[in-house]
Amino acid sequence: MVRTKIKDILLGEKVDYQVIVKGWIRSFRNNQFIAINDGSCLDSIQAVISLDTEEQIIKKISNGASLSIKGTVVASLGKGQKVEIKVEDIEILGECSGDEYPLQLKNRPSLEFLREKAHLRFRTNAFGAVFRVRHSLAFAIHQFFHQRGFVYMHTPIITSSDAEGAGEMFRVTSLPFDNPPRNEDNSINFKEDFFGRSTNLTVSGQLEAELAAMALSEVYTFGPTFRAENSNTARHLAEFWMIEPEVAFNTLKENMDLAEDFIKYLIKFALENNRADLEFLATRLEEEEKQKPQNERSEMGLIEKLEFVLNNDFERITYTQAIDILLQSPAYKKKKFQYDVSWGIDMQSEHERYLVEKHFKKPVIVTNYPKSIKAFYMRQDDDCAQGRETVAAMDILAPGIGEIVGGSQREERLDKLEQRMKEMHIPTEEMYWYLDTRRFGTAPHAGFGLGFERMVLFVTGMTNIRDVIPFPRTPKNADF
Ligand code: ATP
Ligand code: MN
Repeated sequence: MVRTKIKDILLGEKVDYQVIVKGWIRSFRNNQFIAINDGSCLDSIQAVISLDTEEQIIKKISNGASLSIKGTVVASLGKGQKVEIKVEDIEILGECSGDEYPLQLKNRPSLEFLREKAHLRFRTNAFGAVFRVRHSLAFAIHQFFHQRGFVYMHTPIITSSDAEGAGEMFRVTSLPFDNPPRNEDNSINFKEDFFGRSTNLTVSGQLEAELAAMALSEVYTFGPTFRAENSNTARHLAEFWMIEPEVAFNTLKENMDLAEDFIKYLIKFALENNRADLEFLATRLEEEEKQKPQNERSEMGLIEKLEFVLNNDFERITYTQAIDILLQSPAYKKKKFQYDVSWGIDMQSEHERYLVEKHFKKPVIVTNYPKSIKAFYMRQDDDCAQGRETVAAMDILAPGIGEIVGGSQREERLDKLEQRMKEMHIPTEEMYWYLDTRRFGTAPHAGFGLGFERMVLFVTGMTNIRDVIPFPRTPKNADF
């Protein structure tokens, strides 16, 4: 007989058939009722053992132990479940005894505590739910692009270009640290390094995705990216996953439409496929919100928020309009912002959150940022006012998160691109491969990057990015 997943038994509502169930014990009551969870769904199944079960076995039935049971699915008389298993055979696969097990569940462990126990936290309801949702979103991402005829492109993880300027990079080297080969001027001789040059972990797959889009028209990447920036915030990881579609012939407007459709698709997919998990996370969030002072609580529950975002258009404003709104805001007038506001600033998270959470109360797409604060590859807007040069950038800001997407229409004009690279001291010779796309059949194109963990944060209502990736990598932390 093969093992049946608990999810299938609970969904089925069928009775009077035999099953084998394997999983981990979540609780044991009255020497008779075992709650077993196998991760296939949020709910545990109740298994009822007979009162004459051997004492030897009873002793081993404890929270966290793994077991295999054989029994009959029967209608349950108890509250909270339609079916349960009447156990005929029980085998403890792995004992979990003693007081050392960190998940004794006497009182609910905090997320901070569980972060230290990341190897075991999968066993809690909250993290089970988070990682099932994370899986669903990853699956939905591929489905969304596949349905639209995009080609999934694997861009390199080790790269020699630092053109993005997206942050500090992690160096990849096989040179010895104590005595690396040196040039005459005492600098390190990377010609002797593994790749014959200096290499790093990638901060983005965009530049390579652009190359592919210039032939396949619609491509996307979905892979790990690395940033050695020392920002120890609840929104930054040193290793995170990013989705980067790149589309030939798309303008900024079409880029925004794609991003908005994409985000809504993911939300809809989770609402349809992870209802129980989301409802559990909504309750968790509600309890967390109750700890906060009244004026800091969010007005909507998690499910309500997701449905609201799904059913409403994102607000679309230019950077210039955003700055005007901030300058007119009571928060600015009452000097509530820590950082000053003026045209040209790189908006701080307090500004972004004001726009999204206080002013519009929905996701906002901000476009046409000042050229000076954006990457070299963004398309320069024509007809800008003197001193107010902008580029065809678009950032999507989400309630509770801040920036979730960063994208742009790319500069397809060789002369403008080269000039901008020179201004920003980006070596054009080294980047010949990138410039070649502009030399040989250039075309307008656009794309964006969605931070996967920020999307998972948004959908699960979790508040710290460390709680939506299995093993977070942050400054001074790479355990497990
Ligand atoms: P931020 O201003 O929040 O640091 P960024 O401007 O550096 O973001 P981009 O370089 O545009 O971000 O990257 C694209 C997307 O990747 C962002 O919109 C965000 O969702 C995500 N992202 C960026 N940096 C990180 C990080 N350190 N950890 C997790 N996600 C990130
Ligand atoms: Mn950043």
